[in-house]
Amino acid sequence: MQTQQTATRTVQQKTTTGTTGASGDFASYLQNAVEQAPASGRTYTLNGKGIPTDLAAYGNGKVPANALEPVGDTRHKLWAPAAESLTRMIADAKKDGVTIGITDSYRPYAEQVDLAKRKGLYSQGGLAAKPGTSEHGWGMAADLDMNAKALAWVRENGAKYDFYNTAARESWHWGYKPKTV
Ligand SMILES: [Zn+2]
Repeated sequence: MQTQQTATRTVQQKTTTGTTGASGDFASYLQNAVEQAPASGRTYTLNGKGIPTDLAAYGNGKVPANALEPVGDTRHKLWAPAAESLTRMIADAKKDGVTIGITDSYRPYAEQVDLAKRKGLYSQGGLAAKPGTSEHGWGMAADLDMNAKALAWVRENGAKYDFYNTAARESWHWGYKPKTV
């Protein structure tokens, strides 16, 4: 868990680099970055298409389980920074008396194909992404199990954790969109 937290901070540090031009700020950034660098030396970034750089070579829906991180103590897995952020969001919601469950997270390609058959393509009025394009296929989205109170909480607070309702007809679908690209 410590590694995941560190990784998330590293991603956030990158935001700072992008917005600071002054050399003094960069020096302090560098110091922070060194202090917060994960023990593994691993950093997480998104490529120009918004896809996790460390997962891109696997392909959408073809990411091995050990390249993903669990969300809290659930069976659900996401890209490491997304898993860490969602873990924090669920814990913070709990402190507010709000329960957020997870219905679905990383979705393998074969499941994307099955879902498209059963629920239709989003572009045609259905509820499934074209197989191979789903945010779930990169571990970058979770379908959340929420009552009305929880949905209101996530709508108000999701952005603090870089989670956004990225499918207009699916109030349960929350994509991870860190402000680093
Ligand atoms: Zn979804």
